Amino acid sequence: MIKKIIYLIPLFFLFSLTTKNKKFDSYIEKDLPYLKALYIDIHQNPEISLMEKETSIKLANELRKVGFDVEENFGGYGVVGILKNGKGPTILYRTDMDALPMEEKTDLPYASNVITKNFDGNNVGTMHSCGHDMHMAVWTGTARALVERKDEWNGTIMMIGQPAEEIGAGAAMMLNEGLYDKFPVPDYGIGLHSSPIIPSGKVGFGKGYIMANTESVDIKVFGQGSHGAAPHMSIDPIVTASVIIMELQTIVSRNLNPLDDAVITVGSIKGGTKHNIIPDEVDLQLTIRTYKEEVRNLIHKRIKEICDGIAASMGLDKSRYPKVILPESFTPANYNDEELVDLMTSVSNSIIGKENVVVSEPQMVGEDFARYGSTEEDIPTVMYWLGTVPKERMDKYNLGEYALPALHSPYYYPDIENSISTGVKVSTESLIKLFNN
Ligand SMILES: [Zn+2]
Ligand SMILES: [Zn+2]
Repeated sequence: MIKKIIYLIPLFFLFSLTTKNKKFDSYIEKDLPYLKALYIDIHQNPEISLMEKETSIKLANELRKVGFDVEENFGGYGVVGILKNGKGPTILYRTDMDALPMEEKTDLPYASNVITKNFDGNNVGTMHSCGHDMHMAVWTGTARALVERKDEWNGTIMMIGQPAEEIGAGAAMMLNEGLYDKFPVPDYGIGLHSSPIIPSGKVGFGKGYIMANTESVDIKVFGQGSHGAAPHMSIDPIVTASVIIMELQTIVSRNLNPLDDAVITVGSIKGGTKHNIIPDEVDLQLTIRTYKEEVRNLIHKRIKEICDGIAASMGLDKSRYPKVILPESFTPANYNDEELVDLMTSVSNSIIGKENVVVSEPQMVGEDFARYGSTEEDIPTVMYWLGTVPKERMDKYNLGEYALPALHSPYYYPDIENSISTGVKVSTESLIKLFNN
């Protein structure tokens, strides 16, 4: 008898889990037209970084509708929605809200044709090409689902609508405004990002560092201008800059431990006005990507040493050595807490099937979500990849007939329904599991 009961217990759990899954599936199916309409509305009305006024109003209204206390304009157009549901942990769940200054080139019937006057006064096409519209739809769906399933969890959910992710500023703006002083300090933080390579219906998780610390460094190279035909009377900053650029290539290859990852890219070199003038100055613009703080510090040190050394060899006076301008702010590397990844992976396995949960490789792109876990409170965070590639594109890609558009491509678009329902399922179930942990 006892043996029988022992056999029956896991069966019973499995049974109740499947009925629960089914119940939630049919709930999401019912809510999907609402979320799809919201997605399309946001997609057709994109707003660039620091201009997310209407988008933030939309999100605030969505939260209020289902009973959240909402604070608006918190750190720019930031939205903070709080729902207290008894005693339990506080969990932060963030979406970003900004679009990009670029023209949409998809042929979709709901494509954006919005033109924005940017801060420089220029008219720019505007598009949600980084999937932030999808993030908002999933976020709203998750808030609604958590309210629907209120009797299954206890704690406080803190929904964050963050502005200005694309310029790496929004998370810092909200934290500097006192996010963790004015509101409860969360015990965990969760976020997601649309993936342009994972098919819709699937999600991806990576442990540890998943996205890099990104920063922009400027180098001003000085020289002594002259006639192009009289180089002996110059100290040519174009030649100096060229030597510096080549020498920078040795930092990753020769100075770093081969097992550490980093990228140093010189993305812009500007100097001179005309064929026959040796200019006085050259400007270089670099992007640097790293994971570890000590690697980042070593790269800064080597850039400075290389610049000084080459300037000395060119015969420049110390006062004319290159000026290396390190950024005051940067986007820290995203570190996925290993236990949170394990928890979310097992939740995802049971809710969408093991075959739909993939392990993701780390990337050198950046995301300022990292900031929520980089304060002195050191809260564990996780950001997962939400597959968004529509089946018709994936099929062509698998046949080798098609290159998938990346994020920030004017041709990128997600599979709306499948991505939203997968995102809402994974986010909601993970949050409920975490509240009950
Ligand atoms: Zn982006
Ligand atoms: Zn993004």
